[in-house]
Amino acid sequence: MTTIARLSTGLLRQDPYGYLCAYDWPDNCFVQAGDRGLVFAIGDASKDYETAFFEAFPREPATFIRGEGATVQDAETSAWKQFQQQVACPGHEFERRGYTNGGGFCKHCDMWMSHAFEPSTLCCICKKPTDWTHDTEGEYYCQEHQRDMPLGKWDVMQWHIAFSEYEMWCHKNGVECLL
Ligand SMILES: [Zn+2]
Ligand SMILES: [Zn+2]
Repeated sequence: MTTIARLSTGLLRQDPYGYLCAYDWPDNCFVQAGDRGLVFAIGDASKDYETAFFEAFPREPATFIRGEGATVQDAETSAWKQFQQQVACPGHEFERRGYTNGGGFCKHCDMWMSHAFEPSTLCCICKKPTDWTHDTEGEYYCQEHQRDMPLGKWDVMQWHIAFSEYEMWCHKNGVECLL
């Protein structure tokens, strides 16, 4: 069966039907592609670049694969090679490679897994491993203790979430929103 990738950028305007994949991705594997993906270079905006990309989200095992290339076809080939390498892996063994959120990469096939480990950061209240949320000073809070974060240490995102929760509550309860 031919898989059709959802187009997220660029090509979308030219081809409303999507990109026909060259490889036989599993049926339950969501794929998307674009010919205008912007890649941000960390710390150096002059090194930002545009590339064609192809992204796949296989379910078994659940992971995320991204290929880049001069064209979407090249990017798909790169993603497919990574996928084949993962499928052929003799046995995944994960390492953190600097990530503290519990995600890890397989030593053998480089597969990414989002919950390979417990997060290495601890809730500052109950000391359980968590990466649920953190304050402006880098202290972490689990879901249960997120409300214990002092107001003075909320960042923009926390205020944003609190305002939208308030708005939804008003809407649900038929109360006029005062903000
Ligand atoms: Zn592996
Ligand atoms: Zn906690």
